[in-house]
Amino acid sequence: MAYQYLLFDADNTLFDFDAAERNAHLQLCRDYHLAFSEEGYQLYHQCNAQLWHEFDLGRCTKEFLLVERFRRYLAITGEKADPEALNVAHLRALGEGAILMPGALPLCRRLAEDHQLYLLTNAVASVQRQRFARSPIAPFFRGVFISEEVGCGKPSRAYFEYVFRAVPGMTADNALVIGDSLSSDIQGANNARLPCCWFNPQGLPRPEGLRIDYEIRTLEELLSIA
Ligand SMILES: [Mg+2]
Repeated sequence: MAYQYLLFDADNTLFDFDAAERNAHLQLCRDYHLAFSEEGYQLYHQCNAQLWHEFDLGRCTKEFLLVERFRRYLAITGEKADPEALNVAHLRALGEGAILMPGALPLCRRLAEDHQLYLLTNAVASVQRQRFARSPIAPFFRGVFISEEVGCGKPSRAYFEYVFRAVPGMTADNALVIGDSLSSDIQGANNARLPCCWFNPQGLPRPEGLRIDYEIRTLEELLSIA
């Protein structure tokens, strides 16, 4: 066992956030009588991704981005709705959609036999708590660290220092960060000088200037690393 403490990202690492988000958007369009189209969904997706990237870079707050993504979406589509109400409904739908990534359940079950698993996420706390509680992987985790509750998030070093203080026995040698995001998970592991594994199912090119200790295309590959 190379790494006793496994620090997993949630969205698009263990949870299929893309699928959950698409379902939530479809439901939102139905409930608020907005037109649903693939182009419209991609538009929302771009507004959302751009704002989360700005959040990762520390350029905006989460409160701002959550409503702003719908404000931008409505401005582009020209449809009329209250962006704050859309966000509330969207978060509620997301919290109800606990869709796991392929292989996540057997992976967590197997790893929990002889590792300590923790969830580290920047996602919205209410969504994450609700979704995690209803997911079948919940019993395999020793703890959940949500940025909103910690007071800072990935990739900040302060966030990982908080995790270190909360998990006795964890060191920079026996812990592994696993996640899909270069700007939060891998950058965070670099900032905290922790080993990291980039979950890269789409086979994206490796960036310059970031230390990536391991790279996997499927979750199962983690079994031969951890
Ligand atoms: Mg992620």
